[in-house]
Amino acid sequence: MINAHGHILGFDVGGTKISAVIGNDRGEIRAKIERLTVKHLGRDRLTQQLYEMGQEAMDTVGLRHVDGIGIVFAGIVDNDRGMVVNAPNIPGMRKYEIVPLIQGRFDAPTVLENDATGAAIAERMYGSGRNVNDFAYITLSTGIGGGFFSGGRLVRGAHGIAGEFGHNVIMVNGPTCGCGRQGCLESLASGKAIARRVKENISAFRDSGELSRIPIQKVDAKAVFDAMEKGDGLSRLIVEETAYYLAVGIVNIVCTLDPEVIILGGGITKSGNYLFPQLRKAIRDEFKSMKRPVRIVKALPNVTDLAAVSLPLFYKDRPGRKSTGGK
Ligand SMILES: [Zn+2]
Repeated sequence: MINAHGHILGFDVGGTKISAVIGNDRGEIRAKIERLTVKHLGRDRLTQQLYEMGQEAMDTVGLRHVDGIGIVFAGIVDNDRGMVVNAPNIPGMRKYEIVPLIQGRFDAPTVLENDATGAAIAERMYGSGRNVNDFAYITLSTGIGGGFFSGGRLVRGAHGIAGEFGHNVIMVNGPTCGCGRQGCLESLASGKAIARRVKENISAFRDSGELSRIPIQKVDAKAVFDAMEKGDGLSRLIVEETAYYLAVGIVNIVCTLDPEVIILGGGITKSGNYLFPQLRKAIRDEFKSMKRPVRIVKALPNVTDLAAVSLPLFYKDRPGRKSTGGK
């Protein structure tokens, strides 16, 4: 059981970075440390890294004990069993029983969630999802993920993978996605896809003075948004096209779930001020005759930190979870 205003240790394990934070149930973050993910060395090394980072975060604020632990993981997780099922971007994580390990080490009840689902939970507790029973959270980053609440309840699906909005196909016979399908939203509008589309088009469009100055392998979504702000023609085209793809993906979600609010988070939403107006316009156009009111808003600036911290509180009344041993 989590004490009121107790301290919560949160881990965010991503394909590139891992963070450990100390927060409380008011959604305040008191400490944060960040390291590159030790990839290719397997789960034992990763576990060790989490032990060290958790301890360091606790030491930063002089804590000897925490009241709960939340872990968000970039991958498919079995939330009931406290196990990572698979993580496409971190090798060697198949059936990684992370919760019993972390729970045993720090002696505090521990909950695991997928990172985008965790972000949806954080928005429900502290952000634009408060007092909103139907909303979807979409993360626009290297990949595209999501999570949603319907009728006030988190929808996890039969296998915990509901809300994989990135793998809705929006272009039949489009580019091949990491999942094997063709034309997924992720294969067209993610950070990775933006970079790929620039590389495919840059020789055809000689009008990219800005992007031509960067080595082609270093062009990423941020570089594209920055170049567009400086009036770069190719970048503007790429961003407009991205807004269109996202609008198609979002309108599909609206047709399926009828949410009141769509919350957008992830690195791409922090790039420049152009995407949101462009996206709102593209969504209005895409709705065509079927007008549906939906608000498009930005996620909490620290939603990734709060994702892990919000978990023990969100799941605190779940039956059958013991304080040690995992289940
Ligand atoms: Zn896909």
